[in-house]
Amino acid sequence: MSLNLEQATSLIIERARQLVNHLIEQRGRETPPFLSEEFARLQGIKEIVKTDLGKEVSAVLLKLHDGDIIKVNANHHPVRQNFSCAHEIGHSLLRELRIELDTENIEYRTFNSEAPRRARAKARERLCNAAATELLMPESIFRKYLLDFGISINSVEQLANIFRVSVPAAAIRIAEVSPEPCVALLWRKLRNKSKALQLAWPRRKPIGKSHYTPVHKRVTPPSTLHKAYEYNSPVKCYKLFKVNNVVKNLPMESKGFGQGETRYIISLAFPGR
Ligand SMILES: [Zn+2]
Repeated sequence: MSLNLEQATSLIIERARQLVNHLIEQRGRETPPFLSEEFARLQGIKEIVKTDLGKEVSAVLLKLHDGDIIKVNANHHPVRQNFSCAHEIGHSLLRELRIELDTENIEYRTFNSEAPRRARAKARERLCNAAATELLMPESIFRKYLLDFGISINSVEQLANIFRVSVPAAAIRIAEVSPEPCVALLWRKLRNKSKALQLAWPRRKPIGKSHYTPVHKRVTPPSTLHKAYEYNSPVKCYKLFKVNNVVKNLPMESKGFGQGETRYIISLAFPGR
């Protein structure tokens, strides 16, 4: 079956949803967390092996004669392991659905002969991430929790803990499922001596949504964002965003997470407020 990226995305998310429903039926309750171990069992993966995969590799799906196994990098944080495993289950779903991506509809910018193959591989990875997201943070359940906690920067960490995902993953999911328009952003300090904060994402246009990007992708001190970087309490400010060549001043809530070198700021901006 040859599909474009959008069709393939809805197909794999649909299949992930079936797996979630199957699990909920089996457990008799729909309370998070949803762990990749639980889905692996349902998907006929016989074992998840936690092992040293070095620095770069997160997880691999191995097809053995007596069933599949997932090897996951034991050096990584448990929430990252949970996502990596779910991503590999996504590969298993992709194989089962026999999705062939129609390369003509995948964007690539060069005419290099390797480009279509690489674009297809990248698109496959995005499909597996979409499946993993639906498995670990099922849309309707995540939205219910989000509305209970409130669409706010203060809910990000709580939702991440409840669903056993990383803070950035929870923030992206909030923006995806929120009934109120919401943009999630991540800022980091540049590696050099500059004290500026640099926007790390969003970089890519989300499928079927208006694309809000900050006009200034680099923020120099002093700024409200730097306060969020220095202290742990959330901050509020207004920021200029561009959408379809129109500039709008949006309210934004931000909070710093992580320590030292890996410290970052998550912001949620609200186009409707
Ligand atoms: Zn992959």
